[in-house]
Amino acid sequence: MQPIIETSKTESQETVARWQASMKMAFRSPVELAEFLGLNLEQAIVPSNSYGFPFLVTREFASRMKKGDWDDPLLLQAWPFSQESIAAPGYNEDPVGELGARIESGLLQKYHGRVLMVTTGACAIHCRYCFRRHYPYSDEPKSIEQWLPALDRIEADDSISEVILSGGDPLMITDRSLETLFKRIESISHVERLRIHSRMPIVLPNRIDDGVVHLLKQTRLAAYVVVHTNHRNEIDESVIQAFRRMRNAGAVVLNQAVLLRGINDNVEAMEDLCLELTKHSVLPYYLHLLDPVQGASHFNVTAEKGKQLIVELRKRLPGYALPELVQELAGEASKTPA
Ligand SMILES: *Cc1c(COP(=O)(O)O)cnc(C)c1O
Ligand code: SF4
Repeated sequence: MQPIIETSKTESQETVARWQASMKMAFRSPVELAEFLGLNLEQAIVPSNSYGFPFLVTREFASRMKKGDWDDPLLLQAWPFSQESIAAPGYNEDPVGELGARIESGLLQKYHGRVLMVTTGACAIHCRYCFRRHYPYSDEPKSIEQWLPALDRIEADDSISEVILSGGDPLMITDRSLETLFKRIESISHVERLRIHSRMPIVLPNRIDDGVVHLLKQTRLAAYVVVHTNHRNEIDESVIQAFRRMRNAGAVVLNQAVLLRGINDNVEAMEDLCLELTKHSVLPYYLHLLDPVQGASHFNVTAEKGKQLIVELRKRLPGYALPELVQELAGEASKTPA
């Protein structure tokens, strides 16, 4: 069986790309990151198994954290604090009803005209608030043969005009695997748009290499890349370069953020983020209220506070720089404006 969904772990024939070499250097234990940042470990409990969601942070992302600062907004997104063990009421392992939206192996459909492929379970960072932190990735396709039912399903339904590559992070698969997927999707004539949901332009910007640029350039499909950044400090010169490369390759670049307690839940932080994004021609798309996933309740910001924030932001930002505050409710026909 020819594997198409290769990650750096299973990659074999191809030479190791630069981004894959960077990925191998990522921090895989909280203690290593604490040492790198000069953090006092007596102030924290270091959990042995990271509450069932392995610790992972790239060196590139860690280098943008402030040394010795337990309140750093980037660190707070990645550190497994003991509050993850709290069983908060209403928080569960499938917070937005994805398992009920699985129409084929690896394929989710909730909304008209758009399907979402769970391309891989791998990511370049493990965001502690991730709504898919308990997603059963191991049940999803690992080879082109296993993807065939999903691809056939898309082909058979001409109401589908957009395919979203998600995960995990779809850019964690090799260029060759991406190319195979692109080709299959491009061959379905009613598909018009290809969307990539990826955090790699932020956490491992060298992933936007010539291979990815080439794929974006050559596709007949309208290409949208939705990146994920929550705080202005996540954006440095290397990220700006990645934005530019994607834009120059013809992709429309959008951002989605999650409203996170103590990280971006104030007007100044959100204004800075939105202005920095638009300065580099990236449009703020959604600002998500936290999905109630088990282990993330300490990040929650109320819808009320989120709405007040938007009222204030609207006074400060051009209309196109204002993200839409939304919530994902299981069973709804779209994201729900908050
Ligand atoms: C969020 C989501 C989409 C995309 O929704 P848009 O409003 O088009 O950005 C598509 N499918 C699923 C399953 C989703 O969760
Ligand atoms: S990169 Fe996205 S899918 Fe991966 S852990 Fe972060 S939020 Fe979840």
